[in-house]
Amino acid sequence: MKITKVTPIFCDAGWRAFTFVKVETDEGLVGYGECTDNRSSFGLGGCIRDLEPRLIGQNPMAVEKLYWEMCQHFQQNPGGIAQKAIAGIEIALWDIKAKALNVPLYELFGGPLWDKIRVYWSHCGTYRARNPELFTTKPPLKTLDDIAELGREVVARGYTALKTNIIIPGERPRMFRTFDQNIDHSLLKAIDRLLSTFRKAVGDEVDICLDLNFNFKTEGFIQVARAVEPYNLMWLEVDIYEPEALLQIKQSTKVPICSAENMYTMKGYQPYLEKHAMDFCMIDLPWNGFSESRRIAALADMYEIMVAPHNYYSHLSTFISAHFCALVPNLKIMETDVDSVPWRDDITTELPDIRDGYLYLPKKPGIGVELNEKEIAKHPWPK
Ligand SMILES: [Mg+2]
Repeated sequence: MKITKVTPIFCDAGWRAFTFVKVETDEGLVGYGECTDNRSSFGLGGCIRDLEPRLIGQNPMAVEKLYWEMCQHFQQNPGGIAQKAIAGIEIALWDIKAKALNVPLYELFGGPLWDKIRVYWSHCGTYRARNPELFTTKPPLKTLDDIAELGREVVARGYTALKTNIIIPGERPRMFRTFDQNIDHSLLKAIDRLLSTFRKAVGDEVDICLDLNFNFKTEGFIQVARAVEPYNLMWLEVDIYEPEALLQIKQSTKVPICSAENMYTMKGYQPYLEKHAMDFCMIDLPWNGFSESRRIAALADMYEIMVAPHNYYSHLSTFISAHFCALVPNLKIMETDVDSVPWRDDITTELPDIRDGYLYLPKKPGIGVELNEKEIAKHPWPK
């Protein structure tokens, strides 16, 4: 079997493009991968096209060899969109290999550790606040009562955990973003109101996480961490590119700290893991690739740290992350976006089987889901 074509595929996803990779072969087998990110789809597509000549004519079953050849191709540009493009292609190659062998992907690695994965409702309220034009059938987040209603929706739909961002309800609700990375008392009070509303609405037994993204420097993250201690969070999530600073944040509070969603490869994670700078380690499958993500999870396991995949994309990514979770002994929980563009369910042939807060593992050969390219063509990117 030989690779005949490698194509980036874009689909309007509202504020970004779902970015996929299609790998075709001379035997008719097709593999799909995903490497969506927030704002680099043209760069990603360019990197995928840069790699295509290197892959044409090669045997797609040699996944590991091709992965390292792609890394060598971009060895002067490690990480970033280059690693994302490699990851999207590598995932598509695993899809082809598992389909050729007629087994679900996790069977290539010894079979699943469990048959269902606990998931949390991520960006809970975030997209409804930030992109209300996409959620016209959902109640707007104008008041704290609307936040409470959303919390009750989480429980009613069977989820046992949620993650939110700094949402400021109002006539024009918004997701808070700093430019200057400063924090003040009014913002701390807004965070307190948000979390106390969610906590009252969901009760004591539903886990809550708050994601602060890159909004602050060390001092600001510490102020928030101390302020949210009464809410018994599963974790407070921070993005920062300095291991000592992350360790300082972790040691300043009793709130567990999750980080590292934006990091690449074992080499990128090592300085954080060896310092035990976080309680939970996030790993992004569409940005690292399947094998490298497994290696990072194993490295985290060596340091007694639980991992949680970063997954806020299409259903294809959710299936990929499910195969990963099936194989990780030090798994905490898996991220999933409940809210998305209304056509997300149309662009894949299968939907994730999520019931009572758990995702049941796919059982079809390969990743277990195909892209519906006809539906994707109805939502071109750029718009
Ligand atoms: Mg995050």
